[in-house]
Amino acid sequence: MPNHAVRGMCLSVLLGAGCAPIVGPVDVEAAVPQSLLAADYRLETVRLETVTELGAGRGTHFDIVGYFNITNDFLQANIDFDDKDAQSSMKRESRAYGSSGPLAPRLRYNPVADRYEAEDFDTLVYLSAFHAFENIWRYYEDTIGDGTRATREKTIVSLYGGAVASAQVPITITATHDNAEYLPTGDVFAIKRVEEQEGIPLAVNWAVLAHEFFHRVFFHHVQSEGGALKYVIDVIWPGEVAGGRSPGDNDNPRAYQVYRGVNEGLADIFAIGMTGRTSIFVGSDQDPTFHLHSRYRDLTGDFADELTYEALTNAIEDDTGRKKCGKLPVDDEDESFINVYCLGTLVARVIYDTADKDFELLQSRVLPQVLKVLRPLGEDIAVRSEEDEGRLSFEVPMLFNRVFDGLDPDLREGFCDSLRGRFSSVYSDIVGCAALLPLP
Ligand SMILES: [Zn+2]
Repeated sequence: MPNHAVRGMCLSVLLGAGCAPIVGPVDVEAAVPQSLLAADYRLETVRLETVTELGAGRGTHFDIVGYFNITNDFLQANIDFDDKDAQSSMKRESRAYGSSGPLAPRLRYNPVADRYEAEDFDTLVYLSAFHAFENIWRYYEDTIGDGTRATREKTIVSLYGGAVASAQVPITITATHDNAEYLPTGDVFAIKRVEEQEGIPLAVNWAVLAHEFFHRVFFHHVQSEGGALKYVIDVIWPGEVAGGRSPGDNDNPRAYQVYRGVNEGLADIFAIGMTGRTSIFVGSDQDPTFHLHSRYRDLTGDFADELTYEALTNAIEDDTGRKKCGKLPVDDEDESFINVYCLGTLVARVIYDTADKDFELLQSRVLPQVLKVLRPLGEDIAVRSEEDEGRLSFEVPMLFNRVFDGLDPDLREGFCDSLRGRFSSVYSDIVGCAALLPLP
């Protein structure tokens, strides 16, 4: 009897007690996209390369744990946000305050296929997510060229759970089901339980998970290494995560919304660069909840085709669903709000146009070049915010100026051409473009 079979029997008969760990590489059955362009997931045998203990969710790059609930109580404690390594202390504190439950995958060994299979749906999500994160990790590290702790440091993927208001008030303050998120204070990815959603669950949708992974990449480049953390954390996290100030109370709601829109848009285009689909919701959008949202985030749809920065700053007043985008506040006094994903689509579309809608070009050159400008962008945010009495200061042209500098010269004209049509009111602030391709 092969070793795997002994261990498999041991798992199912003895419920894992006292059994040797199932170490990788190991073959399992998981839900995977059939081709990167099709929205078609099927069950097939895949090899998990980085598993160190399959029955316990352990791996070399990440552990998958059950029901991790982080709290941000520690934000009231002494964290030095000037410290570029502040995430380490946040992470330590957040995880110390947080709690997790056991991950109890129900696995069976199939000797005919020589693989482990899930005995229930949660275990299938677990195996599929493990495989998805291994691929996403490789994408950011090898294809995109990330060299930060985003791909060098081990992390946690929580199956279920999320952020709770505080240890004393353990109310879940982020989505509880049918979603996925990255929680930067605890450096935790949370995959939400599949409940009502139709189509491919977001929990195993590679594009959605790659979008979330980008938030970790963005964190390390912009906030951690670039030094913007100090200015961002005061504005964003207390309001959103710790249940403290609401975003409307922020010192600079406009900069906050621009910051979020840019982060979301880049997360979409980097995810799209991996999967080759023009919306991260392809395959998951049968569910009515996602119809409109999916349309907003489809880079080739009518919405993205017609979208301009001016439409978002003036608010779209037609009677289509587009007016749900809201309005970007013009200054600190303006209390309007924008759906940050609409701004994100605009940012993503410019990058997509820069690659001339060519995925090969997007993946091999455009995105690696955009990645490299994120750290200097973080430095710009830190400098500008410091000059502005420590309030978060961020405008879209700051991103595009850095991208212009970071792009190969032959890519700049396409980039500027897209910006000229979509960001005309701030185009003159994008100095390289204004010189290369002046407004008519
Ligand atoms: Zn996001």
